[in-house]
Amino acid sequence: KDAALSAAAPTADDAPTIFDKIINKEIPSKVVYEDAKALAFRDISPQAPTHIIIIPKVKDGLTRLAKAEERHIQVLGYLMYIAKVIAKQEGLEDGYRVVINDGPSGCQSVYHLHVHLLGGRQMNWPPG
Ligand code: ADP
Repeated sequence: KDAALSAAAPTADDAPTIFDKIINKEIPSKVVYEDAKALAFRDISPQAPTHIIIIPKVKDGLTRLAKAEERHIQVLGYLMYIAKVIAKQEGLEDGYRVVINDGPSGCQSVYHLHVHLLGGRQMNWPPG
């Protein structure tokens, strides 16, 4: 079984995902932003001209938003702030969309909490 695929498969536990491999530079990614707490890279299957994934470097049990505890409040706010920083860096002056998919019904596929930053085209509402 392909290791990268099984790492990306939905899991209820805290098992490593493909995003750990990206953090550890074991697989390549197009990094657009990196600091001690967060990493952002271009989505491999972009749904908009700009589609960036923003993740905490330390997962600390935050497989999905539903697992958020009080100790995660700071990192959750930080990811929002970084989304704004990157949107500006990407020149998305007219606006953009920030998305967190949670769980099966939210269409989450990688269980390492992440923020999608989408822009560069007109977004529609409601989303699919
Ligand atoms: P969904 O797959 O439904 O968008 P998620 O919200 O869990 O669910 O998003 C995971 C995202 O990670 C997807 O948009 C997917 O294209 C992206 N992704 C998966 N593997 C990689 C990778 N190796 N490099 C960059 N992006 C990736």
